[in-house]
Amino acid sequence: MTNFGYSQEQNEEKKTDSEWKNDLDNLSYQVLRNSYTERPFTGEYNLLFENGAYNCKGCNQQLFTSTNKYKSNCGWPSFDEAIKGSIVYIKDFSNNMNRIEVKCSKCDGHLGHVFNDGPKDTTGKRYCINSAALSFNKK
Ligand code: FE
Repeated sequence: MTNFGYSQEQNEEKKTDSEWKNDLDNLSYQVLRNSYTERPFTGEYNLLFENGAYNCKGCNQQLFTSTNKYKSNCGWPSFDEAIKGSIVYIKDFSNNMNRIEVKCSKCDGHLGHVFNDGPKDTTGKRYCINSAALSFNKK
């Protein structure tokens, strides 16, 4: 996986920390800007399986569609694929783990991690995403 780095568009999306704090509810701010993880099985989209799009709560870029959401029972919304170009992948060695962090390519907001224990019949990927980082738009 590739870290695509910073684009011009991304720079335009840059806000100060206090602007982010103002624009987001506290949990979403902690997740998106401080890489906090919401408690498992508590997020509003964990068990949602309606048709629609999942956008970044920070900048509204579309990240996932409901067709790629599946029941992983891990406690967080799980997707087997992301919208092309919407995600940056970063090696994350925090908490003595070797994980791949996923962030929004437009606003650099922390979304969650991607693991290789997803559905074998599709991509094999599990994008494990905080509900608080997403905003759902029903189709
Ligand atoms: Fe974003």
